[in-house]
Amino acid sequence: MKEIREKTEMRVPLLDLKAQHNAIAEELGAAVSAVMSGQHFILGPEVRQLEEAIASYCGADYGIGCASGSDALLLAMMAVGVEAGDEVVTSPFSFFATAGCIARLGAKAVFVDIEPGTFNIDPAALQQSINHKTKAILPVHLFGQCAEMEAIGDIASSHGIPVIEDAAQSIGSDIGGRRAGSLGLIAAFSFYPTKNLGGAGDGGLMTTSDAEMAGRLRNMRVHGARKKYFHETVGINSRLDTLQAAILLVKFRYLEAWTNARRSNAERYRKLFGESGLIDSGHVRLPRDAGSGRHVYNQFVIRAERRDGLQQHLKEHGVGTEVYYPLPLHLQDCFRYLGYKRGQLPVAEAASEEVLAIPVYPELSSEAAEYVVDKIGSFYSMQ
Ligand SMILES: *Cc1c(COP(=O)(O)O)cnc(C)c1O
Repeated sequence: MKEIREKTEMRVPLLDLKAQHNAIAEELGAAVSAVMSGQHFILGPEVRQLEEAIASYCGADYGIGCASGSDALLLAMMAVGVEAGDEVVTSPFSFFATAGCIARLGAKAVFVDIEPGTFNIDPAALQQSINHKTKAILPVHLFGQCAEMEAIGDIASSHGIPVIEDAAQSIGSDIGGRRAGSLGLIAAFSFYPTKNLGGAGDGGLMTTSDAEMAGRLRNMRVHGARKKYFHETVGINSRLDTLQAAILLVKFRYLEAWTNARRSNAERYRKLFGESGLIDSGHVRLPRDAGSGRHVYNQFVIRAERRDGLQQHLKEHGVGTEVYYPLPLHLQDCFRYLGYKRGQLPVAEAASEEVLAIPVYPELSSEAAEYVVDKIGSFYSMQ
């Protein structure tokens, strides 16, 4: 291993939202104050503008804002008619909401294992999990990279089952020349502050190119009302605030630049890790960029030997990291009734013990990236 130079200590957070905010604070202030002057807080004109902008960015015909990414998933499941007794096939290695939306409707989440390099659902495993009860397939585009949507789409259409994309972490990603948000019947996006396009609070959005689905989703987010006070179905109250939409419209103008910065930070890491000797020695493995599309690096997730020790070491040296996700969904207490046992989905289980997200946010400087890799190197050279 290359000799470790002593660098002066730095503080490198996992994500630096203040840096982003400071760069655009004035524009954001103006957008917020315009909404305050208009006082049109619920489904004001900015909501429709954002819906149209995001749908067109994703290559979809319709966008429907809602209160969160979790609600976007729930509304999508409701719109395709998922109910008690149905099954929905999904990934065990994701944020809780991916499975929560299925369980909330009384349906059964069926988990299939992931690919070790991309952390996305393995299409070969998917095929065997489909039966006559399967109502939908819910692949996740994890950490910024699309799942293998062509293979998944082929399996789905051979069974006549809709695909709902969990695109919460992957706005702007694509595969086979098509963007996330246009790869299934409905896609769910999140504007949670840590996502690539993050609001000042919760927010979400669904995209679809199916006019009937779009109408259904629009009704469903206002308690199932076709027009005010006339209810065709039982929906929920889940709207994107006008204030959030106005803020997101400002930030959306920077999304491509931020995404490109994330991608070049990831490239820089690949180079730095390659030179460090950490890969050859087997201490660290890098996330696979499948190369079939555009990875937008919501997270840069390495696999590390003695992960918890490394995380502690980095913390002591001012580097923020996070474990996404420490317990796969099939082993969560609340899903014990599904009957999964440890050992059943070994790739997801191994990932949970090895993964570590390191800073990849757009404003990350090259010095900070070097510092992070240096400190990872110093951990393994210490023992
Ligand atoms: C963030 C996230 C969600 C949920 O989004 P919220 O807006 O926080 O409700 C769903 N799925 C995945 C994969 C996510 O990362």
